[in-house]
Amino acid sequence: MVLGDQLDAGNPALAAADPASDIVLMAETSGEAAHVWSHKQRIAVFFAAMRHRAENLGAEGWQVDYRPVDEQLGSLGEALADAVQRHGAEQILVTEPGEWRVRSELADAAKGAGAEICWFDDTHFFASHREFRDWARDRKQLVMEYFYREMRRRHDVLMDGDQPQGDRWNFDKDNRGSFGRKGPGELPEPRRFEPDDITRQAIADVRTHFPDHPGSLEAFGWPVTPADASAALDDFVAHRLPLYGQYQDAMWAGEPFLYHSLISVALNLKLLDPREAVAAAEAAWRDGHVPLAAAEGFVRQILGWREFIRGVYWLHMPGYETGNHYSHERPLPAFFWTGDTSMTCLKQSIGDTLANGYAHHIQRLMVIGNFSLLAGLAPREVCAWFLAVYVDAVEWVELPNTLGMALHADGGIVGSKPYVSTGRYIQRMSNYCATCRYDPGQRTGEKACPFTTLYWNFLDRNRESLAANGRMGLTLRNLDRLDPEELAAIAERADAVLGRLDD
Ligand SMILES: Cc1cc2nc3c(=O)[nH]c(=O)nc-3n(C[C@H](O)[C@H](O)[C@H](O)COP(=O)(O)OP(=O)(O)OC[C@H]3O[C@@H](n4cnc5c(N)ncnc54)[C@H](O)[C@@H]3O)c2cc1C
Ligand code: SF4
Repeated sequence: MVLGDQLDAGNPALAAADPASDIVLMAETSGEAAHVWSHKQRIAVFFAAMRHRAENLGAEGWQVDYRPVDEQLGSLGEALADAVQRHGAEQILVTEPGEWRVRSELADAAKGAGAEICWFDDTHFFASHREFRDWARDRKQLVMEYFYREMRRRHDVLMDGDQPQGDRWNFDKDNRGSFGRKGPGELPEPRRFEPDDITRQAIADVRTHFPDHPGSLEAFGWPVTPADASAALDDFVAHRLPLYGQYQDAMWAGEPFLYHSLISVALNLKLLDPREAVAAAEAAWRDGHVPLAAAEGFVRQILGWREFIRGVYWLHMPGYETGNHYSHERPLPAFFWTGDTSMTCLKQSIGDTLANGYAHHIQRLMVIGNFSLLAGLAPREVCAWFLAVYVDAVEWVELPNTLGMALHADGGIVGSKPYVSTGRYIQRMSNYCATCRYDPGQRTGEKACPFTTLYWNFLDRNRESLAANGRMGLTLRNLDRLDPEELAAIAERADAVLGRLDD
């Protein structure tokens, strides 16, 4: 069985199978497309990439039992049980899925159908589960930076013997630039991929079967084959990697892609090997094409964050998904599905998301995630939204990023303190505030920026539990400077803002 995010030629289950006696099962199910209210582009990219892969497997001599969406299969479990029955299969070979739910669904279905299921470790990643568990064992706090250094050493990436190139592991401080008042100027257009016949049909099928799902299909231009994925990487390394690090955290209205790589979807569907991406960045630095800070900034995202996040997911699942450290229960505002809000930063970031199935990291973390935490939105609803709306969303990577990094709802497993900020941070890193009706410098009053009001109110509400966190000392000392009257006015304004989020 080949799942939609297991499209690599090296898929271990496939490597263990025999084209002479085994049948490849691939299924497009409504359950996978709709268990969260998926963006149309997210469904389309999976279907298009799977169909290309099936065609390719057929050409390689495999018999492929491909179940298209027209057949209206409800779930992957149903597809598996049905295939066992039709083909009289005794054994199912499958590489471990990227989501706990799918793993248990397939295990149950195989058991019910009387077939043995053989799981294969996913070799797409640099670190195996065991390696991560060994690293995590006996550590009080899992710090990504230390894991990353170990990965650099183990895989000899940007190393000079036992030491990091440039004598520094981390160029984060050089990587926090904004565009200033003048803006980003002329930006290199990222390579987009014109849909071919297979992709056009996948898009048409999404329109037919999922007409009321969120998002637009107009701008679809994602890589859906390994060749597209390599071309996307080459284009990034040639044109955007040189300034990637410097502007990694910057945002600009109307510019959804900036200097980002746009390769997450290709990586997560396994059209692109992360080793290829890391090697390309290192080679670009060695050739003198990009500064070390840019190459290191990019390598850290893939060899560090991506691997670390996956390790956390499998270390803490199942159970991690129920985390709600602050007991937040507010329902998701309707504007998350429309972008229709007077807060410009959210309007832009959600608008980009609905148009492209994409927003870059700082939009996800410091605009949408930050707001979700400050407004006390229910983590399970926020996580379902993040899983639904991004083309690159698979639970192993979406959940720790949302529940852990953005919402701090895991109580500090991914991040040692909450990533929260006032509107001042957004003002510094973007031009969003320049056209917004709110003022990021004001905490109270009609013009007060909701981020700023909610930030101080969040600190005030959680003062006690935050005081136990040594990294929050400075922040709480700033809170102590506000007198009780001001805190009361902030609380009143926060209530007013939260009471009319969708106005
Ligand atoms: C709330 C939230 C939800 C997220 N959900 C997802 C998700 O569903 N799928 C997903 O792939 N990423 C997710 N991320 C991480 C990150 O935002 C995306 O990987 C990135 O924006 C993808 O765009 P890009 O390929 O242009 O990335 P670039 O900025 O060009 O980064 C290069 C690559 O590094 C990797 N990377 C960077 N940051 C992370 C990270 N924090 N975790 C894992 N990998 C990372 C990605 O593979 C990415 O393609 C999420 C982040 C947050 C804060
Ligand atoms: S003023 Fe506040 S709400 Fe408006 S764009 Fe800036 S940060 Fe966002």
